[in-house]
Amino acid sequence: MHFIERRYSPTKRRDLLKAAATLPLLASTMANSLAATTQGTKRFYSRVRPADPDWPSANLWVNLREQLGGRLLKLDPPFASCVAAHGSAACIEAMRHLGNTFEIGDQPGLTQTSGWVDAWTSQPSAYAVAAESTADVVAAVNFARQHRLRLTIKGGGHSYQGTSSAPDSLLIWTRHMNEVSLHDSFVPQGCAAKISPQPAVTLGAGAMWIDAYDAVSTQGGRYVQGGGCTTVGVAGLIQSGGFGNFSKKYGTAAAGLLEAQVVTADGVVRIANACTNPELFWALKGGGGGGFGVVTRLTLRTRDLPDTFGAVFLSVKATSDEAYRDLLAKLLEFYRDALLNPGWGEQIGFHPGNRISVSMVFQGMPESLARQTWQPFLDWLSAHASYVIDKPFECIALPAQHFWDATFMKRYAPDFIVADTRNDAPPHHVLWKGDLEQAGWFIHGYRSAWLPASLLMPDQLAKLADAIFRSTRHWSIGFHFNKGLAGSPAAEIEAARDTATNPAVLDAFALAIIAGGSGPQFPGMLGKPVDSASAREQARAIALAMEELLKVVPNAGSYVSESDYFLKQWQSAFWGEHHPRLARIKRQYDPEGLFFTRHGIGSEGWSEDGFTPLQDAKNV
Ligand SMILES: Cc1cc2nc3c(=O)[nH]c(=O)nc-3n(C[C@H](O)[C@H](O)[C@H](O)COP(=O)(O)OP(=O)(O)OC[C@H]3O[C@@H](n4cnc5c(N)ncnc54)[C@H](O)[C@@H]3O)c2cc1C
Repeated sequence: MHFIERRYSPTKRRDLLKAAATLPLLASTMANSLAATTQGTKRFYSRVRPADPDWPSANLWVNLREQLGGRLLKLDPPFASCVAAHGSAACIEAMRHLGNTFEIGDQPGLTQTSGWVDAWTSQPSAYAVAAESTADVVAAVNFARQHRLRLTIKGGGHSYQGTSSAPDSLLIWTRHMNEVSLHDSFVPQGCAAKISPQPAVTLGAGAMWIDAYDAVSTQGGRYVQGGGCTTVGVAGLIQSGGFGNFSKKYGTAAAGLLEAQVVTADGVVRIANACTNPELFWALKGGGGGGFGVVTRLTLRTRDLPDTFGAVFLSVKATSDEAYRDLLAKLLEFYRDALLNPGWGEQIGFHPGNRISVSMVFQGMPESLARQTWQPFLDWLSAHASYVIDKPFECIALPAQHFWDATFMKRYAPDFIVADTRNDAPPHHVLWKGDLEQAGWFIHGYRSAWLPASLLMPDQLAKLADAIFRSTRHWSIGFHFNKGLAGSPAAEIEAARDTATNPAVLDAFALAIIAGGSGPQFPGMLGKPVDSASAREQARAIALAMEELLKVVPNAGSYVSESDYFLKQWQSAFWGEHHPRLARIKRQYDPEGLFFTRHGIGSEGWSEDGFTPLQDAKNV
């Protein structure tokens, strides 16, 4: 489940407004495509674009297509048909994709986020390799390196930061590499003497979490730690660090990685695990997607399933500022004393209008115990006339094996899920209803901050409550408790310590997220263009809200994949003390910077679009 309070009017898709501008086509000739820069002892060359003389000839592309068995696609702008004729059947068909997250993911030219005001806009690559095998990936990596192409990798396509979208690039699209296999006793290659056999699951890099959950939990009766949103790609999330609904109990997704197969910049297929290429292995566990190579498959540990998973919901409004302040303090105290433990995850939202909303999950306890846990807080609310219950307390529990079971959920909890309704859709393809709101989302502002558990201590709690109060004068805040490991079992904290994720996660009780956006804004699509002035106004309000929170946690760390596009000190915010080690690993495995993502490891040496090496970059 993914909860972000939004205050926007989504673009009406049926507004058949012709796009004002022509689509940005493959263009922009570079003044000198052979420009080279020396950084330290290395020479870096500019990458070529389709209009450059060094762009591979038509024959070379034909050869590559043959080598790939036809799996090379020339991409057109996804809404070119709407620009040409806005009411055409092709245009209506292109627009129809936007209502279905699975369908968006099936389009090599689309991304799950359509852009970010004043930051980036989703645009297709020039060509895509629709990879079906590791050999396809090797061919694409070698071709990109030999011809100095900007390379992009896309799995689930959920990057908020636009790191899987780059015009004029060659895209490696892993969508079809989605095989899943279960193991009873997996031992990472070369680790026989060090690591005992354990149950595990191997996932193709293009698999989505729902594919993993269906195989591991629904079919296999076990648990794998993945992401909350079921359509997020497995490789992107693991390299982010990755949190799911129940991470407070099972830790980060990256910490469960046992082994990866990776194609590095030299075109070599490498195994990365604790015994073979251990530094690369460590970097893949939270070092950021797309920076170290192309992951072709991942193996993750699986665990016993608890008996139950469940959820509680509640929404309360205070009738005065004073009462809201009391409510905030009481709720934080209640969270600290009753819920800061492996049993509870997901979110509480704090909103303008003196409102709070609870949308939390629990695991391993019966519904009766979950209700009992909340009773003291509910009693406190009832005893005070200054609170209005907007949405009464609701508590549901179900057998854990059915949590991601499409057939069960369609029958018993249809209000929570949305299915891919296409005729040929795999029956297990469902997502949480809340996540559908983000299909094609156009971001106005997005900030996040890890909040240390010390803020909940008696001497600091009042300051935190006050910061939340002041923050909600500007915008809604979500506390994602499952994205901080304070309160988790010690073993999970230790496992996460051995990943590249910012150590701030280890003693954070939550990740605070403040965000807002509107409906899809792909170039050329039908509908009203975004109101940039109002989007910027929202971005300012979001920034002000975060400023208030940062007063109690200056220099807070931020989750690499759920963070601000414009963050200044991104290296320390994303990775803290781990950044220098990640930079060393980057130089070892990708010395010429073939794998570029903006604000990724080593990106300081390149222009924002990753095409031009910077003259004055230090040898990062
Ligand atoms: C609606 C939504 C819900 C989300 N929910 C959660 C959540 O519950 N928990 C959480 O932790 N995060 C969540 N996120 C953030 C998400 O985990 C990250 O954005 C993640 O990187 C997405 O992976 P992807 O494969 O779907 O996206 P992509 O955009 O395809 O990839 C993300 C990055 O990883 C790189 N990459 C992808 N595949 C590979 C590969 N095979 N090899 C090397 N690099 C690769 C891409 O180049 C890109 O830089 C959510 C994001 C969205 C939009």
